[in-house]
Amino acid sequence: MKRGRLIVVSAPSGCGKGTILGRVLQDRERFFYSVSATTRAPREGEENGVHYLFYTREAFERCIKGELFLEYAEYCGNYYGTPLAPIEVHLNMGQDVILEIEVQGAMQIREKRPDASFIFIAPPSPAALRERLTNRGTEDAETIEKRVQQAEKELTCVDAYDYCVINDDLDTAVADFLAVVRAIELKVK
Ligand code: 5GP
Repeated sequence: MKRGRLIVVSAPSGCGKGTILGRVLQDRERFFYSVSATTRAPREGEENGVHYLFYTREAFERCIKGELFLEYAEYCGNYYGTPLAPIEVHLNMGQDVILEIEVQGAMQIREKRPDASFIFIAPPSPAALRERLTNRGTEDAETIEKRVQQAEKELTCVDAYDYCVINDDLDTAVADFLAVVRAIELKVK
């Protein structure tokens, strides 16, 4: 059976990454979404084991010591990490494994996994990003400001990725994303 591909996706918050991936991941046979561990508090509607594995800092640090993460990073004051074990299982099952992680973690995977491909999702403009973050209404003003600053920093990292999908129109962005994935699947080496 053909092995799946390891695909790393990064986007500053507010780029509509969740919406794009929500559409793409409807194909559950083709894709496996790696559920990350985090120490941040759940947002309304987020479920443990579905959106994230919600850990205490102590539990997260025990996993770091036990080398249970493929990568981990600290982002806006919280830990985020990719559990290692499920990834190989699903690649061997022939599924494409999608890691939705921020830039520092992506760069760790660049070092460790030459088989991985890297997709960046960008907003059409910085103003659109601030507007989306504000309209989402899930964070207070201080957190939004922190995330906008973080996002502006992250936008400068696009050069470290293999592909960039711009999310202006959702249907186009989803089609572009799937075209990139198909190209990754067809890559010889
Ligand atoms: P949020 O708090 O908005 O859910 O996520 C904040 C950032 O952490 C996003 O850029 C998201 O992609 C990233 N992130 C989520 N899971 C992981 C992970 O396992 N590792 C790393 N390095 N970043 C992650």
